[in-house]
Amino acid sequence: MKVLVINSGSSSLKYQLIDMETEGVIAKGTCERIGIDGSKLTHKANGKEFVFEQAMPDHTVAVSLVLGALTDRESGVISSMDEINAVGHRAVASGETFKAPTIVTDEVMKKMEELCDLAPLHNPAAIVGVKACLAAMPKTPMALVFDTSFHFTMPDYAYMYAIDYEDYEKYKIRRYGFHGTSHKFVSQEAARYLGKKPEELKIVTCHLGNGSSITAVDGGKSVDTSMGFTPLAGVPMGTRSGDIDCAVVEYLAAKKNLTIGEALTYLNKKSGVAGVSGVSSDFRDLTAASDKGNARATLALDMFSYACKKYVGAYAAAMNGVDCIVFTAGVGENTPRVREAICENMQYLGLEIDKEKNLEKNNGEIRDITGANSKVKVLIIPTNEELVIARETVELL
Ligand code: ADP
Repeated sequence: MKVLVINSGSSSLKYQLIDMETEGVIAKGTCERIGIDGSKLTHKANGKEFVFEQAMPDHTVAVSLVLGALTDRESGVISSMDEINAVGHRAVASGETFKAPTIVTDEVMKKMEELCDLAPLHNPAAIVGVKACLAAMPKTPMALVFDTSFHFTMPDYAYMYAIDYEDYEKYKIRRYGFHGTSHKFVSQEAARYLGKKPEELKIVTCHLGNGSSITAVDGGKSVDTSMGFTPLAGVPMGTRSGDIDCAVVEYLAAKKNLTIGEALTYLNKKSGVAGVSGVSSDFRDLTAASDKGNARATLALDMFSYACKKYVGAYAAAMNGVDCIVFTAGVGENTPRVREAICENMQYLGLEIDKEKNLEKNNGEIRDITGANSKVKVLIIPTNEELVIARETVELL
């Protein structure tokens, strides 16, 4: 059985074609910088890497390029779309409508459209991904695997907001959390690496990418997470503000003559480290600018690391301790400076990293950067949301 996994992010689209008998990857790739200048598709198959530097104004174009690469005479691994037995799509927002992975039907897609206001940056991307795949493979079963599922174990005092309880019941306004497949995967991998059962560990997982979230995983279960009702909450992100006093929304709208919707778009798309630095949402650009003395890029990096540090401390308090901190995703796996800033001055937790190991280049493997005297393990674990999505898709079908 071959499963194609499509993971549409806000500015990227990752895919893997997985042979489920071996869980081996037949082909995989990434479309980077979708909607930004300099977009490219990197496709790995047949032991080679193919780079297609092509404009990708949106996800529809990205999906058609991916399907082309999979069936191309040179870069392809299948002769037609019929060889794909199922497609698993990463979906972000579920509300309380979908508490588990779901098969794609017309009715499900209608409900997905209704959920777009929960995740204005992500759900439209997932919907476009599903539609583009359905157009190319109308008979192939497809599943949606939600970012929220892992977080349905949060206790009510962690997921509730302090608003009128009846409004929670009526409108389901609450914390949902996101990036669940990633937090689940890396916390399980951490337990495996440490030779323990997930039940025995208190882990803080830091998924730091273009979108970032931090989760407290106690005994294998998510007990709290930094994102909220939407993926706008938590730490500052590429273009998202993260936590902010919500009274700012009305004030900002009044000062800049915006509607509430426009003010939220500002907080989703024009804020975060891009807004503060005025340089970029990309941490590679930010660290380069900071190294050259750009004070606002330095400030953006400092704000990001400080916010992450506060969540680590808060979750250690919530769990009465922490055994392991995991860094994952684009920034978590590739930006030593951010990891070092988050982990410095954590002696009160008994946490220390090995600064030399922290600087070593990403080799795609699990890296242990725990300091010699540290009581808390610090691991860098490449996330594999695609494998989790493929497994859940097969289980569902
Ligand atoms: P998303 O899936 O939310 O779009 P990713 O997890 O792919 O995000 O992370 C994207 C971010 O990761 C980019 O902003 C980029 O700064 C950072 N990143 C990715 N690769 C590298 C790298 N090799 N070195 C430094 N930063 C990287």
